[in-house]
Amino acid sequence: MELYSGYINQLIEELANLPGIGNKSAQRLAFYLINLPKERVEHFAKTVLEARENVRYCKQCYTLTDNELCPVCRNGSRDASTIMVVENARDLAAYEKTGKYEGVYHVLHGAISPMLGIGPNDIKLKELMTRLQGDVKEVIIATNSSLEGETTAMYISKLIKPTGIRVTRIASGVPVGGDLEYIDEVTLLRALEGRTEL
Ligand code: ZN
Repeated sequence: MELYSGYINQLIEELANLPGIGNKSAQRLAFYLINLPKERVEHFAKTVLEARENVRYCKQCYTLTDNELCPVCRNGSRDASTIMVVENARDLAAYEKTGKYEGVYHVLHGAISPMLGIGPNDIKLKELMTRLQGDVKEVIIATNSSLEGETTAMYISKLIKPTGIRVTRIASGVPVGGDLEYIDEVTLLRALEGRTEL
């Protein structure tokens, strides 16, 4: 039995496909959107479209940006010889928020997960190796402390070790399975300062 109009059902379905949105939240959001003034809905839809069309990968670190290079890579005072490897752009943002890290980043856009069929070629790993041909002194692996994050860290360290570049791993003061973006700045800094050689 159709409880709502077909249009509302479609909207609920689309919203429920978003990560972290269950069916109940999707219903609440759908009714909220439908009751908004038409101009606000138009503005919302336009914002989503424009973001989708204009956001791209930074040519150097692969974070999401509006320009060819992201603000970190464009900033000449950052230490380009230290690269912190993170799983996603949100993790990068979490470290940037501390304001204490002076190196640059590399965003993998995922982690290796044999269980989910995500292999080394499905993340931006080749791109990282290409960057290492430049003047790089240290690679700090800051993937999550989940099984996937640890697998990825071990894999990367094995790849980099033979090049002679220093490879470190952030300290595991970070709760297991914890997403970096939810961890407070003090904990992040402690994890960075307590990093160990791999
Ligand atoms: Zn960048």
